[in-house]
Amino acid sequence: MTKYVYNFTEGDKDQKDLLGGKGANLAEMTNLGLPVPPGFTITTEACRAYLSQGEVPETLDVEVTAAIRSVEQTMGKKLGDASDPLLMSVRSGAKFSMPGMMETVLNIGLNDESVHGLAEKSGNERFAWDSYRRLIQMFGKTVMDIEGDLFSEALHGLQERKGYKGDLDMTTEDLKELVAQYKEIVKKETGQDFPQDPRFQLDMAVEAVFRSWNTDRARIYRRREHIPNNLGTAVNVQTMVFGNMGEGSGTGVCFTRDPSTGHSGVYGDYLENAQGEDVVAGIRNTLSLADLEKIDKASYDELRAIMTKLETHYRDMCDIEFTIQGGKLWMLQTRVGKRTASAAFRIAEQLVNERLITHDEAVTRVTGDQLTSLLFPQFDKSASKKVISKGMPASPGAAVGEIVLNNEQAVARTQAGASVILVRRETNPDDLQGMVVASGVLTARGGKTSHAAVVARGMGRCCVVGAEDLLVDEAAGTVYVKSQDTTYKAGDVIAIDGTSGEIFEGEVPVTDSPVMTYISKGLEAGLAASPDEDTKELVTAVDHILSHADEKRRLVVRANADTPEDAQRAREFGAEGIGLCRTEHMFLGDRRKLIEAVILAETDEDQQAAFDALMPLQKGDFIGIFEAMDGLSVTVRLIDPPLHEFLPDLTELSVELAVKEAKGEEVTEAEKKLLAAVKANHEQNPMLGLRGVRLGLKLPGLIKLQVRAIAEACAELKKQGKDPRPEIMVPLIGSVREMQIVRDMALEIIKEVSEEFGVELDLPIGNMIELPRAAVTAGRIAVESDFFSFGTNDLTQTTWGFSRDDVEAAFFNEYFDYGVFGDSPFESIDWRGVGSVVKMGAKRGRAANPDLHLGVCGEHGGDPVSIHFFHEIGLDYVSCSPFRVPVARLEAGRAAISNESPAAIERGAQRATTA
Ligand code: PEP
Ligand code: MG
Repeated sequence: MTKYVYNFTEGDKDQKDLLGGKGANLAEMTNLGLPVPPGFTITTEACRAYLSQGEVPETLDVEVTAAIRSVEQTMGKKLGDASDPLLMSVRSGAKFSMPGMMETVLNIGLNDESVHGLAEKSGNERFAWDSYRRLIQMFGKTVMDIEGDLFSEALHGLQERKGYKGDLDMTTEDLKELVAQYKEIVKKETGQDFPQDPRFQLDMAVEAVFRSWNTDRARIYRRREHIPNNLGTAVNVQTMVFGNMGEGSGTGVCFTRDPSTGHSGVYGDYLENAQGEDVVAGIRNTLSLADLEKIDKASYDELRAIMTKLETHYRDMCDIEFTIQGGKLWMLQTRVGKRTASAAFRIAEQLVNERLITHDEAVTRVTGDQLTSLLFPQFDKSASKKVISKGMPASPGAAVGEIVLNNEQAVARTQAGASVILVRRETNPDDLQGMVVASGVLTARGGKTSHAAVVARGMGRCCVVGAEDLLVDEAAGTVYVKSQDTTYKAGDVIAIDGTSGEIFEGEVPVTDSPVMTYISKGLEAGLAASPDEDTKELVTAVDHILSHADEKRRLVVRANADTPEDAQRAREFGAEGIGLCRTEHMFLGDRRKLIEAVILAETDEDQQAAFDALMPLQKGDFIGIFEAMDGLSVTVRLIDPPLHEFLPDLTELSVELAVKEAKGEEVTEAEKKLLAAVKANHEQNPMLGLRGVRLGLKLPGLIKLQVRAIAEACAELKKQGKDPRPEIMVPLIGSVREMQIVRDMALEIIKEVSEEFGVELDLPIGNMIELPRAAVTAGRIAVESDFFSFGTNDLTQTTWGFSRDDVEAAFFNEYFDYGVFGDSPFESIDWRGVGSVVKMGAKRGRAANPDLHLGVCGEHGGDPVSIHFFHEIGLDYVSCSPFRVPVARLEAGRAAISNESPAAIERGAQRATTA
């Protein structure tokens, strides 16, 4: 029989699949002997069963009874007992953290009778009624689907009537009145009374949490964060402890290190006399942990000791939620903390320096995506800018954009091409859509651990919170800055600095990031470009980690580059060669006419004349690139695209000539010939038509021209004492025979050039594997080939049978929703399908030709998850766009160190396909 319920004493931190992150870590803390309120976790498996069957498995009911009884025994109280009630919380907890996206119900077990018992036992009547009104509000909204505003309107109405500033002013009598109002709302909205049976409350809350897995906002969040839709959430049912029990109570969130700089120290928010949701919602501004030391030294000291214990145990920065109830500290949650990209590098470096982790581990603690985000430009420190206000820096970056005040504006303006800053009084999970599209997020309320801050950090979105100087009036469409006595309107441009918290008026220019300077110009330049010690620490950390990754990686990293400038940049970024030099752009622009002449030529002489005109130009292209990459391999791909790309558009040309005719103007013979050629070369499915090697075999002169240009460029440079290393690559090979013909042709030309120039030329000749047939017959093709380069762009389209230019917009969204894809297969390799084809091609190729060199040059060569896969299947190199070279170096190092299976990598990266 499936076991659906685990007591906290039963699990551990590695069971996140089953118990969710929160549940697994609660179990870990329980087993470490930390003060965790007793409870149990209902597994993600139970959630999946509920979601697929529409009802809870019967055995779950029975297991929950046993688990409740066990907690009751430990606590010496009974759930919802009229005279001394045990109260419980019901919280979601998925494998991957989804902050604020799913539901929570607190104070389960309170009813019209037990509220009196709680009042008496706690000696605090106000607290008992406050807890009861919170239960009705949360339960009403979450479980009974009542519009949450109805409750908050009642609350604010009462506060306004009595002239109160906030919740703390409310008296016991007020709260009793509010409970009565809330119960009326429940009755009116649902036709039922608020449920009084504690077990019924608990069961309903558990189901509501299960269902909250599929709310819109949870789905949007998962898509963005690459979290698979089919995981489901676990549910944690835990004894309530109360931070709202008056003086000496409170609740807080803290980190063992600063999550935005990595500095160790006391970092966190504390709210007196409050429950957890008050901190995250940012309704009242919080105190710092240093303040807690003054208020309750004993609890503070115990918390600090636990923070150290957790960081030592997890060997990483942890984030922690705690509650103090009447001077007693309780741990409610911990996990390895989310952090900014720069903090990730700095924390890894600090932990190495503290001898808490090894250099190898440091490399696995950062990701290519994090490195990418550090390469973005920042505000120019020397530019003059007008600071209009300041908030708390919550997530770094530099964002410039128009003020928008809600989701709708954010979406509409970004769709119109604008960059926007979402400005809110405070954010709640419903603002997610706006946060996704905005360049930056700015709030007037809330601390660094507020919802806005946590979500923004998770997305790498620039964010400033708690700018109390701002009065945000969504209805009026304005943001009033008190200190400046100035009003800004939606549409006005501002800039926010997520590192300093500053808010600027108007456009602010941005500069290169010092990490980028380090990557392209070296450590000294990177340090010199760093404006402060923090940035120097970051640049040093990136240098240490990236250098260690370079030492450890087995995969060579090349770049895809078609011009000397790109080649130069790629080299600066650490590329060890060019894995794909596409040549088609070399025939566009002014030179398009020359190719047109080749196509239109009626005699061999005409055609040869066109080739002769192209020859010096093409040779010049190669000389520039080989020089830039002197001493490194440059894989030149022979021309690939369909011929029609070099001819005018069929429709446009037909219309142009028809109009001419209609106007009585003369259509020349040349124009008629051109139209005929365009018609002759028109294809229904050009991507599956006359392209790649097929084009070369149809127009052998073109191949000969290109091979000769490569060989002559190489010979010329060699004569100058240089070290050019070109490789010739044939695209879209499907059969060994195609390869034989092209290879023989090329070898003959190379031999001729070698003799003409009197230099030895030994140019590797290989091919791309872009068709399933090539992979299947790789054993035959490999005999005629020095290398294979997997063109995973085409291989994805030909394996799936869909056109990359058409399908993404057509149906990919639906496919994400159905879970056919976790990620676009054009971005991250579909390792089960296309990846298997690559693996087969590599294996068969190598078996037939042990010297065969293997690489990949599709977009996937720069994708983190794909790089791990290519490492695992034993390729020699990946080739990607120059900008992604540093990321590929880091990920190749991580792959060599962690040696994870693709399934594990996919899970680790929160991406998965179900297909
Ligand atoms: C490929 O197909 O993966 C490839 C690199 O070629 P292109 O994208 O130019 O078709
Ligand atoms: Mg291709």
